[in-house]
Amino acid sequence: MTFAALGLAPELLKAVSEQGYENPTPIQAAAIPVVLAGQDVLGAAQTGTGKTAAFTLPILQRLLKHASSSVSPAKHPIRALVLTPTRELADQVHDSVTTYAKYSKLRNHVVYGGVDIKGQIPALRSGVEILVATPGRLLDHIEQKSVNLSQVEILVLDEADRMLDMGFILDIRRIFNLCTARKQTLLFSATFAPEIKKLADDFMSSPQLIQVERQNSTNESVKQELHPVESYRKKALLAHLIRLHEMEQVIVFTRTKQNADQLSRDLKRDGFAVEAIHGDREQRARMETLAGFKEGRVKVLVATDVAARGLDISDLPFVVNFELPNNPEDYVHRIGRTGRAGATGVAISLVAPEEEKAFEQIRKLIKKDLALIPVPGFSPGTEQLGTPRRDDFAARTDRGSSRGERAGRDARTDRPRSERDGQRRDAYAERAPRRDRDIDPMAGVVFPTNLPPLPARPQQQIAALFLPPKARPPVVAVETGSEE
Ligand code: AMP
Repeated sequence: MTFAALGLAPELLKAVSEQGYENPTPIQAAAIPVVLAGQDVLGAAQTGTGKTAAFTLPILQRLLKHASSSVSPAKHPIRALVLTPTRELADQVHDSVTTYAKYSKLRNHVVYGGVDIKGQIPALRSGVEILVATPGRLLDHIEQKSVNLSQVEILVLDEADRMLDMGFILDIRRIFNLCTARKQTLLFSATFAPEIKKLADDFMSSPQLIQVERQNSTNESVKQELHPVESYRKKALLAHLIRLHEMEQVIVFTRTKQNADQLSRDLKRDGFAVEAIHGDREQRARMETLAGFKEGRVKVLVATDVAARGLDISDLPFVVNFELPNNPEDYVHRIGRTGRAGATGVAISLVAPEEEKAFEQIRKLIKKDLALIPVPGFSPGTEQLGTPRRDDFAARTDRGSSRGERAGRDARTDRPRSERDGQRRDAYAERAPRRDRDIDPMAGVVFPTNLPPLPARPQQQIAALFLPPKARPPVVAVETGSEE
């Protein structure tokens, strides 16, 4: 199937071929004819499937008859409105519309919060046919009368599930009611919770369901690797994995903004080119960070779910879940950042014992038997010599001697240093869990990649991995020398 066979106009085909797209993706092949026919669509499409072009191209085609070179704003009313949950997604959709509309006379614009509203008004007043917006800022414009939705013919809700999660339901209903001339509605969502179905029942007429993959499924081109690890060792393991896999571009997800900032600071101290992106950062800083990441200046992007939603970074090779998300559907979205449009990717999750519930929910949702495979040197319940805690201890005792302590004596107490060190070790031993003092018996052992999955029940899997080493069931392993 070619784009030409879908009946798209020459000006759109030219823009598409400039992007290097050879054939429509499955969602494009399925949705374009239905949208062109004027039908409502419920699209169950994951990120990375090409869904933006799946709705943008037929919308442009349907609006081509209104394209006008007149300078009169009255000749350019808003005829298509695309709502997105986040600013980043709004920007990306707007970029796509600009790309595909470049050989037509149709105008488009984007509005979202976090930037001065006044700067957005002149473009709106001069008239645009396609407006991409986040719901809150759109309503601000409606209140200021800089936007009129009475001639909107096509309304698109992109990532509708996320808009609902973010509490936009009342705003969306209000916007639906303002689009009085609406003839067609397209709703895209990775999942179909009851509220989405209710929205579709209330506002859509006989929508055609277009589903390119099973709901809540994860993309087959994403290799999922899950490693059990205690929380306090996650940062060291992440640094180890970034170096081991020579990751040049990776998004690392944390659960909270504070954790994103903290992790970003820690990795920076370790010499990584890292930036954090989350809702508390100013829009301009977020855009700069994103640009740096796309251009390769920033290699590690630490992100929260909301900030990362809809980021289109093509060919992203790695995604790391530093913490599992509270909402299992976010796991699907997160790992959808990699393995996009046919490329393969690796999604790595670091799973601590306290994340057992989240892990179980993810397995239930995606219906896959995910196995937890320890990383040599980071097996739960063990600690190797030379990890930061012990280095830290050694460094402190070294500093003591360089301050001119009398040979073998403690400067403050004048007691033999071995006695003081002994006390420090005891203090360390009190703080550290008992198992920290064990030396990893699995150090130097490399697990074969085809390790059979551990028992099916997740609780048992996690419990088995966090048992003290001696109690752990024997595992077949190949000795090939130390990994670290
Ligand atoms: P989306 O799911 O809309 O975010 O698109 C994901 C990525 O796929 C984007 O980088 C698009 O540029 C790319 N893409 C969209 N359609 C095609 C196509 N037909 N062939 C190849 N890549 C595409």
